[in-house]
Amino acid sequence: MSELLLRNELVVEQEAATADSSAWLKNGNKRSRNDNGKCRSFDSSVAALGTSLRMTLLGLDEGVGSGSHVGASSGADAGSNADVEVDDEEDGTPFDKLREECGVMAVYNHSDAARLTYWGLYALQHRGQESAGIASADGQQVNDIKGMGLVSEIFTDEVLAKLPGHIAIGHTRYSTTGDSALLNAQPISVESTKGLIAIAHNGNLVNLGNSKERLERDGAVFQTTSDSEVIIQLIAHSKQSTLVDCIAESLGQVEGAFSIVMMTRNRIFAARDPHGFRPLSMGRIAGVDGAPDTFVFASETCAFDLLHAKYERDVKPGELVMVSEDGVTSRYFNTRTEQASCVFEHVYFARPDSKIFGRWVQQSREEMGRQLARESGVAADLVVPVPDSGVTAALGYAAESGIPFNFGLIRNHYVGRTFIQPEQRVRDFGVRMKLNPVRSLLEGKRVILIDDSIIRGTTSRKIVRMVRAAGAKEVHLRISCPPTISPCFYGVDTPSKKDLIAANKSVAEICAFVEADSLAYLSLVGLTHACTKGEPVDGLAPGSFCTACYTGDYPTQWVDVSEILPVVATV
Ligand code: SF4
Repeated sequence: MSELLLRNELVVEQEAATADSSAWLKNGNKRSRNDNGKCRSFDSSVAALGTSLRMTLLGLDEGVGSGSHVGASSGADAGSNADVEVDDEEDGTPFDKLREECGVMAVYNHSDAARLTYWGLYALQHRGQESAGIASADGQQVNDIKGMGLVSEIFTDEVLAKLPGHIAIGHTRYSTTGDSALLNAQPISVESTKGLIAIAHNGNLVNLGNSKERLERDGAVFQTTSDSEVIIQLIAHSKQSTLVDCIAESLGQVEGAFSIVMMTRNRIFAARDPHGFRPLSMGRIAGVDGAPDTFVFASETCAFDLLHAKYERDVKPGELVMVSEDGVTSRYFNTRTEQASCVFEHVYFARPDSKIFGRWVQQSREEMGRQLARESGVAADLVVPVPDSGVTAALGYAAESGIPFNFGLIRNHYVGRTFIQPEQRVRDFGVRMKLNPVRSLLEGKRVILIDDSIIRGTTSRKIVRMVRAAGAKEVHLRISCPPTISPCFYGVDTPSKKDLIAANKSVAEICAFVEADSLAYLSLVGLTHACTKGEPVDGLAPGSFCTACYTGDYPTQWVDVSEILPVVATV
């Protein structure tokens, strides 16, 4: 008890020290790197705190699986878990996955800029399905249209006709911060002394409380509860003399993840936070018959392909790019911060046909599978991906191990967000609506199932059961990244630590929980090397990534303590 009191005193003291009452604290776990660029562990005062005022007593073990490979989970183990079933994904959400927040798109100098933006957003739909919006400008007027739903549901020909102009930005969203409502759909526009500015933002800010309070004291009236509006209000309230100086100053004041595109009536701006958490690329469509080129920006390069735009380069971490009638100019608002790009973009979020952080996702993902086979090979007859995101890693695993690959699970791509449930509760109904086993392939086989993550574990267990029920003799689960032990604050929807199975159970316990014959995760070193293998010496390096959800070692100074504390007790 004395330990609890001590810990809580510490929490209260630290909370009082922050301007924000929402438990955002300075990160005592701030990582640094040694000379060879590798992260080293930190004694974390924050992570060592045992409780928070808001936590409930759940009685779960804190042990984080240090090993990454266990085998021979028995049927008896499996049976012992039957009473802890949590059917938490029967609501129609697509599997037990982390969710990316947003995709952004911008077009400068095209007679139908809104339509090109629409196509780009269409390709970025996997980055957010909750709402979408496009703002366009013709040099005089700015129009914007936002709606709830998929890009194709919101933007018809008639709607796009209401968005004239040669400049446009667009956004597709799955919310993390702010209410899940049209109010927070983007682009967000603010009229200020600097003229109208519209913003579309991918990522999450982490020092929001301080900036917002200061702005409100200065008279800012926020239209939304989205953190993205803080950036635009900072710009509107900046005392710098030129707009580009205002933007650079404002971006220098916020911490967290932001890949943003902004527009005024006649200019486009694109910027990435100094860590470069989220991707943002620049492309170009060559002008016809001597006409000036069109410039495009997108979260992922897959958005360029539909537009026949050529990938030019990434917007660099800490860089602000401006496109106007004078051409493309660039400046840096921060060059002092180490790159910490989200490694999970390569594991799961980004499409394999995209090049992000200057590297093809397909290349990284296949190498993850190869490395996984090298690290945790097992005798088996068939490699089966959990579709769709496990496919590329499974191809790599099969190629490296020499074990045949096949689609032993078929995904129904037409399952919507909700569907009519059977009147009687049917076990694992939700997952069976989305995946179906191919009995003729699985029967009598020793199967290696490849997936990209285990978040709560409940979906993995259903899939393992399904494969076994289809006749598989053995089911060995292989995960193409390390155990997810800590939540993300940088634009990814993650459960709290208490809900992450790997934060509360060892790998052996997870193996028993999911009822697999063996379970192995890719090592952290294996992952970061898979994402950089073959890169030139001065290119992307293993130390260029944020890996906080696998290590709890956060690159920013601010973290939400209530989300990362171990589960201990309520006081
Ligand atoms: Fe990506 Fe994980 Fe870092 Fe979030 S915490 S930015 S998901 S690597």
